[in-house]
Order: sequence, then structure tokens, then C-alpha cells
Amino acid sequence: MAATIIDGKALATQVKAQVREEAANLARKPGLAVILVGDNPASRVYVTSKRKDCEECGFLSEEFALPATTTQQELLTLIDQLNHRADIDGILCQLPLPRGLNEREVLLAIDPAKDVDCFHPYNVGLLTIGEPRFQPCTPGGVMEMLKAYDINPAGKRCVVLGRSNIVGKPMALLLLHAHGTVTVCHSKTPNMAELAAEADILVSAVGKTGLVTADMVKEGAAVIDVAMNRNEAGKLCGDVCYAEAAEKASFITPVPGGVGPMTRAMLMRNTLTAARMHLG
Ligand code: NAP
Repeated sequence: MAATIIDGKALATQVKAQVREEAANLARKPGLAVILVGDNPASRVYVTSKRKDCEECGFLSEEFALPATTTQQELLTLIDQLNHRADIDGILCQLPLPRGLNEREVLLAIDPAKDVDCFHPYNVGLLTIGEPRFQPCTPGGVMEMLKAYDINPAGKRCVVLGRSNIVGKPMALLLLHAHGTVTVCHSKTPNMAELAAEADILVSAVGKTGLVTADMVKEGAAVIDVAMNRNEAGKLCGDVCYAEAAEKASFITPVPGGVGPMTRAMLMRNTLTAARMHLG
């Protein structure tokens, strides 16, 4: 039986349309500030798409493109100014930062009430105790996809491949809060294939093309591929061997057109949430 393809692009369009409608009822436009330091081409692409998303949602969007020579103090000063601006609800500093800049200190400097990426330890703490005010964008997007396709993690075996602070760990927390029984695998997990093959919901967030083969997919599982890799031909692909996994799964996300667009849509929703908070 061929799997149902989870259409992240279509779902993201719906989420953004709803965000736009709700934002139109606010006393002012939600505002998102995006800081880009240096000239990483991938980061530039992400920043451009965030600007487009803001336009689509009717948000104010401001970009700060700083040279790679920017000092830590200059970056912290800009963040402080943005923290104090009443028209800016969300601040996002595009990672990775050029070498020499302290990422941790930068993330800590962002006002937690404007931390729409949900990276600040205060917001991570709220997420951990099950009271998040912002959804971490990528894992939050995955949860929206599961909901939209009636895939309920409650009572299910959920296996997350990858334990990064941005994807793997918050993904595991959200599945746990949704009453899944969660296993997290990483580079030191000896029996990852065996554990993955037990999953009703398998989320791969490693960044290795071809990592998830059909023998790691349980018959009827939902397979969510978070990864965004480039194969030898330079084509965007995930961790999952899509064609063979789709033969066994009941649901599967494509790459591109799966988790990526939902991550962007969740950022817009978080910015709307922040604007609501700031407007009281
Ligand atoms: P990351 O920080 O490099 O983390 C990768 C994780 O995978 C680590 O926990 C690592 O384990 C684990 N790992 C590495 N090799 C492994 C192996 N052979 N078996 C099992 N686990 C292994 O990456 P990330 O930022 O989480 O991103 C992961 C992927 O998602 C990347 O492809 C990235 O481009 C993509 N991504 C996509 C979106 C989106 O919107 N779709 C958003 C963010 C990221 P250790 O902890 O032991 O090192």
C-alpha cells in the first residue's frame, strides 16, 4: 500500500492564511526583525523567504544584514535596540554566526518575549514543563502536520533520530507532551535501526542522505523527514530513502515540500502570538 503524502506546502499556505486573517484584526501589524551576519548563501536564502512570508501574512519585516566583521558588542547593541522597539514583536538571529561570535550569548540577549524561534533557555524551560508560549518552529510544524492528518501520538511508539537543541530534543518533548512513548537516538546509539523499526511515528532529523532505509520503517508507520540535505547531484533531499520507505509507511513527508514550509509558517504564527502578548 502506497503511503499518503503529507503535503507540508499546502498546509503551510493554510496556516499563513489564518495568521494573516488574525493579524488583520490587531491594532497594529506584527513586526519581525531578522538579523543576518556575514554572507552565508544558505542563510541569505532563508532570510529572503522569511521576508516573503512576512509580506504574505501582512507583517512588518525588517532585515539587518551585517558584515562578517561585526563584533559581538555591535551585535548585542543591535539586539538591545530591537528589544526596546515597540513595533518589533519577534527577533531572529540567523544561525550559524560567523566564527568569533558567541552564539549562546547572542541567543541569551534576545528578550524571551520576542524569542519567536523558541531558543532562549527561558522559553526552552517553559516548553520542558509543558507550558510553552512559543512553539519551537520545526518540531511545532511537525506536530501541526500530524494533527492535520489525524495522526495522534498518544499511546504510540515515537522514535526521534537526532538530539539537537533546535530539532531533536524539542521534537521529543512535544511528542512526549502529546502522550507518545518517546525514544531519542543519536550518533552513539548502537541499535538505531532496530529502534526505528519499532516506531509508529518515526522522525528523522540527522542530516545524512540515505540514513533511513525501508528495513528501519515499520509497516504502517508515519515517517517524518526533517532533514534538508543535498545529494551528489546537488538536489535537496532528506534522510529517508523516500521511494522504498513510502512502500511501507502509511504517511510520509516529502523533501522538499514537507517540514520546511511548515517551519516557516510556525515562525509566522509565533510572531503573531508575540504581537498579541505585546498588545496585551
Ligand atoms: P545537528 O545539530 O547536526 O544534529 C544532528 C543530530 O543527528 C545530532 O544529535 C547527532 O548526534 C545525530 N546524528 C549524527 N549522525 C548520526 C547517525 N549516524 N545516527 C544517528 N544520529 C546521528 O542538526 P540539526 O540542526 O538538528 O538538523 C538536522 C537536519 O534537519 C539537517 O539536515 C538540517 O538541515 C535539517 N533541518 C531542517 C529544518 C526544516 O525546516 N526542515 C529545520 C532545521 C534543521 P550527536 O548529538 O550524538 O552528535
